[in-house]
Amino acid sequence: MYIGRFAPSPTGKLHLGSLFAAVASWLDARAAGGQWLIRIEDLDPPREELGASQHIIDTLAAYGLVSDQPIIFQSQRHEAYETALSTLQTTGQLFWCRCSRKQLAGLPSYPGTCFAYQSTRPDAAAKFRVDNSLSFNDRLQGPQDYPPCEPFVVRRRDKLWAYQLAVVVDDAFSGVTDVVRGIDLIDSTPMQIALQQALGLPTPTYAHLPVIVNPDGSKLSKQNLAQPISVNNKEEVLQNVLARLAIDVAQGPVEQMLKQAVLLWQPQRLRATTTQAL
Ligand code: GLU
Repeated sequence: MYIGRFAPSPTGKLHLGSLFAAVASWLDARAAGGQWLIRIEDLDPPREELGASQHIIDTLAAYGLVSDQPIIFQSQRHEAYETALSTLQTTGQLFWCRCSRKQLAGLPSYPGTCFAYQSTRPDAAAKFRVDNSLSFNDRLQGPQDYPPCEPFVVRRRDKLWAYQLAVVVDDAFSGVTDVVRGIDLIDSTPMQIALQQALGLPTPTYAHLPVIVNPDGSKLSKQNLAQPISVNNKEEVLQNVLARLAIDVAQGPVEQMLKQAVLLWQPQRLRATTTQAL
């Protein structure tokens, strides 16, 4: 059974780029007769915008996008990440690193300074090292081959959990079979596959969507103050989002527009596109 998801970080309100990814993942799930879940990735309280989680959930609901399971909040999932970290600890690929960003700046690759520190020590980040290259077949972007990645953080020095670990643990916990998300996250995929392999978890299928870019080419994002989505002209906004997904439907109640869109969903039309102008 297909299980898809939309996993926003509540660092800002829902904007056109995130609604685009939400609608695409929803359509893909519905077209496959599957479930669609929302997961709030609230792992980094200092970067969170007050009220953003609720705004995202309410706005999605106004657009007819409602999670088929109770919404998971990553801030409630520390124990699961702790368990995963203990498992990684047994692989010999985890090490506790005190190198500062400054120390590593300019080096072509990690010099292995902290590889020998295999058990926890204060004031260190837990990093995971991967020695093998990784390949996967992206449904939209085609075959992807990555050389061995640099060691990456799974638990930060300030004890916050890193996105890579949390996303892998939670996708598996929810039984996610298909990840449909923006291409800005494609380079995270090999790291996530490496963690899935180390944790004995299944690897979902990936489809990386084009991202919507500003006139200067930068990704539409909370960081560059993308406008929050309004619910006052939903029909018009949804028609625009669907057109960007190569689906033409007439304006009407959003539920009706979505229903028609499921029948017209042909993700291969987005194949090998990486950006869309605002
Ligand atoms: N939380 C991530 C973001 O908002 C997306 C995670 C994912 O889809 O894997 O960029």
